[in-house]
Amino acid sequence: MPLFWIPPEVAFCFVAIVDRALNLSSLSSSDCYETIIVGAGIAGLACAQRLAEQGKSDFLLIGEKLGGRIPSSSDGQVNYGAFYLRSDYEHFLKFAGIKRRIHVSDVLFAQEGKYKSIFSIVSWKQYPKLIRWMLFLRKFQRHSLLFRQRSVTMSQKKAIELDPWLHQLYSEPAEALIERLRLEELAGNCFDQLVMATSFQRRSEITAGYYAASCLPLIQPTYEFEFFPERMIESCFENIQKGSVTRVSPINTEGYCWEVLNDHGNRYQCRNLVMATPISVSRSLIEIPGETNPAAAAYMVHVRGILKSDYATGAIHIFPCDSEDLVIVHELNGTSFLYSRRATPVLETYFHNYEVIARKHWDPAFFLGNCIIEAERDNNLYLIGDHSFCSVEDALITGLFAANRIARRCSERNESSQSDYREPLDPVLAG
Ligand SMILES: Cc1cc2nc3c(=O)[nH]c(=O)nc-3n(C[C@H](O)[C@H](O)[C@H](O)COP(=O)(O)OP(=O)(O)OC[C@H]3O[C@@H](n4cnc5c(N)ncnc54)[C@H](O)[C@@H]3O)c2cc1C
Repeated sequence: MPLFWIPPEVAFCFVAIVDRALNLSSLSSSDCYETIIVGAGIAGLACAQRLAEQGKSDFLLIGEKLGGRIPSSSDGQVNYGAFYLRSDYEHFLKFAGIKRRIHVSDVLFAQEGKYKSIFSIVSWKQYPKLIRWMLFLRKFQRHSLLFRQRSVTMSQKKAIELDPWLHQLYSEPAEALIERLRLEELAGNCFDQLVMATSFQRRSEITAGYYAASCLPLIQPTYEFEFFPERMIESCFENIQKGSVTRVSPINTEGYCWEVLNDHGNRYQCRNLVMATPISVSRSLIEIPGETNPAAAAYMVHVRGILKSDYATGAIHIFPCDSEDLVIVHELNGTSFLYSRRATPVLETYFHNYEVIARKHWDPAFFLGNCIIEAERDNNLYLIGDHSFCSVEDALITGLFAANRIARRCSERNESSQSDYREPLDPVLAG
């Protein structure tokens, strides 16, 4: 554990104290900001961190929970939301500590009532197809890495439109891809279970792109991790306020475009508004025309108990696709956690004796579908987060993108002599 580690709760307490000390009731110049970020998940934190890195200090981040959907148990040992990272999470790795590696051989799949590793499920006759899938995944990964690289400076929507191959995969159903590659048997025996355990969705429910992304742990080193959100805000503590935003309204006053109200009744104005909340929350605060991906729920139970013999070996057990329970993970500290699609899984099925350490209900947990929405909107509004591509790395990159765009537009404005300069409305961006 690094020396400067501060538990997220303590970091937020500190921020709350600073905030109380600054508690101003009427709107003054200190309530006007160049940028307000709403939401302190990985996307909002990345935006704040990148703005600070670029020398910007005129911003405020208002958030409820530091880290959002990446929380951990009070001792930091077990993650209650995002569970794994891959070694190609270039940006997220700067803020996370790597823990146990998840080897493919440690993952056991349900097969005819027993749990087996992929190597005992796949017969030698199926190896050519398995290799074909691995090669496909390599190609998918190359395209995805280029997409991520581009997404740092352009919106995900624009970045994916530059790659018709990848774009097609995120538009078509996973069923179509599996049929095209003639992988039905392998998919039915193990890939579908892996996808279900990582995305909580059946093959029939997701796009080919997300199906392939969920299979990437087959070819890329994958680890459990510990997240250090305080590393992201160490250079901008004073710009962070614990709280909930209750209202957001467009305004047009002296170059400010948005007014934001928090749950303490404080009003703030800003030129740039970055909504880093789950898209369902953003939609409840702002009018967002067009469709967005539907929300899916997920449930997690952290348990101390004795596992029944069927589940006692291997690090990870993945259940059959027709089960509402998805996966049991055995942690190094002797506890286990279960991810499920139902709120109250029957723990007696898996444990002899047990005690529940914690339960976590994620609703919304994921937004999966083929809607890729434009992050950069009219009126200096940015919609960031995992609403189009779901992973901690992709969500983080949307935060970098918003900060980069804001910094760029700010320097363009400074270069122009007009004080009330606003970039002309781009009809594509506005869409
Ligand atoms: C159970 C589960 C398992 C997952 N597993 C993995 C995994 O293994 N690997 C992986 O890469 N990804 C995984 N993910 C996905 C990953 O966690 C998310 O994609 C990512 O964390 C989303 O980050 P975000 O910043 O977009 O949103 P969030 O983390 O949801 O952040 C949004 C923030 O906004 C705050 N907020 C909401 N409303 C308001 C308001 N009115 N005012 C102020 N703040 C508000 C919230 O409290 C939250 O802190 C998993 C997700 C879940 C739920």
